[in-house]
Amino acid sequence: MEHHHEARRLQVNGIVQGVGFRPFVYQLALRHGLKGEVANTSSGVSIHIEGPADRLRSFEADLLGKSPPLAHIVEVTCRPEAFQHFSDFRITASRGEAAMATLISPDVAVCEDCLHEMFDPADRRHRYAFINCTNCGPRYTIIDDIPYDRPKTSMRRFTMCAACQAEYDDPLNRRFHAQPNACPVCGPRISLRDADRGEIESADPIAAAADLIRQGKILAVKGLGGFHLAVDALNAAAVARLRQRKLREEKPFAVMSPGLDAVRAYAVVAPEEAKLLLSIQRPIVLLRKLQPNPLAAEVAPRNFYVGAMLPYTPLHHLLLNEGFSALVMTSGNLSEEPIAIDNDDAFERLAGIADCFLVHNRDIYLRSDDSVVRRAAGETRFLRRSRGYVPVPVFLKHPLAPILACGAELKSTVCITKGDKAFVSQHIGDIENLSTYEFFQKTIAHMQRILDIRPAMIACDMHPDYLSTRWADEQMEIPKVRVQHHHAHIVSCMAEYKLEGAVMGIACDGTGYGPDGTLWGGEVLVADDAGFERAAHLAYVPMPGSAAAIKEPWRMAVSYLRDAFGDGIWELDLPALRQSGADKVRLMVEMADKRINSPLTSSLGRLFDGVAAICGLRSRVSFEGQAAMELEMAAVGESHAAYDFAWEEGTPFRILPAPIVRGVVADIGRGAAVSAISVKFHNTLIRMFSDLCDRIRAQCGLSRVVLSGGVFQNARLLTGLVPALETKGFEVFSHRQVPTNDGGIALGQAVVAAKSIKA
Ligand code: ZN
Ligand code: ZN
Ligand code: FE
Repeated sequence: MEHHHEARRLQVNGIVQGVGFRPFVYQLALRHGLKGEVANTSSGVSIHIEGPADRLRSFEADLLGKSPPLAHIVEVTCRPEAFQHFSDFRITASRGEAAMATLISPDVAVCEDCLHEMFDPADRRHRYAFINCTNCGPRYTIIDDIPYDRPKTSMRRFTMCAACQAEYDDPLNRRFHAQPNACPVCGPRISLRDADRGEIESADPIAAAADLIRQGKILAVKGLGGFHLAVDALNAAAVARLRQRKLREEKPFAVMSPGLDAVRAYAVVAPEEAKLLLSIQRPIVLLRKLQPNPLAAEVAPRNFYVGAMLPYTPLHHLLLNEGFSALVMTSGNLSEEPIAIDNDDAFERLAGIADCFLVHNRDIYLRSDDSVVRRAAGETRFLRRSRGYVPVPVFLKHPLAPILACGAELKSTVCITKGDKAFVSQHIGDIENLSTYEFFQKTIAHMQRILDIRPAMIACDMHPDYLSTRWADEQMEIPKVRVQHHHAHIVSCMAEYKLEGAVMGIACDGTGYGPDGTLWGGEVLVADDAGFERAAHLAYVPMPGSAAAIKEPWRMAVSYLRDAFGDGIWELDLPALRQSGADKVRLMVEMADKRINSPLTSSLGRLFDGVAAICGLRSRVSFEGQAAMELEMAAVGESHAAYDFAWEEGTPFRILPAPIVRGVVADIGRGAAVSAISVKFHNTLIRMFSDLCDRIRAQCGLSRVVLSGGVFQNARLLTGLVPALETKGFEVFSHRQVPTNDGGIALGQAVVAAKSIKA
């Protein structure tokens, strides 16, 4: 019968190592009565499979259709091979350097099987906070080097007991080759400490920690990618104290709840949002708050939204299971510093903040903040892409030379390309202080190591003062290319969709360095991955006081009013101007007129700030984008009303903010509500940009429009602009894989740099 038998070689590429893929293949082969072997290779997993042809076909179908939850198959190639008379099916050991190029899985939430065991009093891992299996648990944050094997992870100091080792060695066990496998006998332990690092003795540290939280204490909890600071989200005094100590005035805190029902007590959860909350990535999902709301107002002051997540580590489940409906779980850092990951580091840096510490002795090698997503315009949008998603690459249309892209400054990430994959790093943060800068450098070194890459070129922003640009300049031995900020934004979105050729790109954000030395941010570009032309931009206005104008939107209000009314500004009777005081307004006008410490900007983010301040919403901000965000949230209801808008044609077109500003002021004079003004302002931008694209299409003939830049975090703007453009026959592209803010910019930088090598 042997002539009916065939043999094949299947090469499976993607995230297929360290995710239980080989045992899955092994069990599949047994089920189908097939023989051969499976091994890890440099790019994935290689299978030699032999047996009857029809069984081989069903094996192949199951391989794709039933793969383990963490596996991410990119490609399967199949070729016939000589029949080798295997007597069984076996898993062949992974060869050291062979596994170098493989993809590493992100850290994911503890699975249902493990949770059942953990809550089962009869199980040997009952209430064990480090339970995991091949389908769940830590990965990226515990890896120091490749290949992904236990000695290369922070589990290396724990020697498996006989029971754990038996599971690890058994191909039929769901802990086969689960590198972080552990139990209470052999694995990591937790301990509860006071602020002086002293052990707080108790039979159950988690129950004791829960007691402290109930007393209103601030608990530092060691998580997967770093420390959280936890307080009871219903305890207003505790939340207020956390704000005070963390030096975080108003920026919203995220909360964690034990399950969906608990979240539904304080937020509206649409079906797609529920799916996100329950996904193995477990991101923070921005949800609309219910009114009235049981959470302390201090959790997300003056905010219609709250960021919620569900437990993702076994420790979280145990803690939340102590009867909490919502805990504030905010990153364990002082405002603007990177999140603490090390026990010593946490005790030191969080000493003035946390009253007690729930720590453990499994090290975190790589910091990874919680990811933040929101649903907008029918898609999931990343506000921050980090834990749970990194290091899954963006798959590119073509292989590129190895590039290291350094990102910009705020919400920074870096990107490394390898073949046809672009690896965007976890969230690094605002590279404005030494500790974030060190994290930036550490991330670059770590990614180069685990991806085994030496970059052929470094890409960075054009801004000469960004620390990321300066770092790039210091790398003497590698050629550099400086990529314009908004060009990088647009190309980043093009890369997600594998777009080639020229597109129209609307790039709107707070700040990006323009080649003319001004600060861009309200741009329409005609761009491809090699270069761009500026087709239109918001007309320049001065930013009186430069960086101070970003922190104090009332300064921008004065600047836009001066631009719109000229000397008429002195006749205006606006509450916002009165509140600022005549002397200060005069000073701002003088600074703007004489261009004293007043750089020019075409930023749409600044226009949002200015309009928010003119409306009296906010004269100063305590975090980036706050005024714009509050203006967006102020928009309630639907109408088609809009302000007049205008642009001057030329090369490039100049979009005039003055008619819009005059319209806003007239509405305030008529006593219009801020909610109505905000709706009209958003409508105006939607109409203006879609008309403008129409006009530019008449010149350039392009019908694809790419949207990028931080302003498109604004759900109302995005949700309105996409159909407005589509109605005019445009094909519209907006970010789905990386953030539209500067967290996605490194991807675009890398692609532009690679293009410059090819050219
Ligand atoms: Zn599991
Ligand atoms: Zn054990
Ligand atoms: Fe930007």
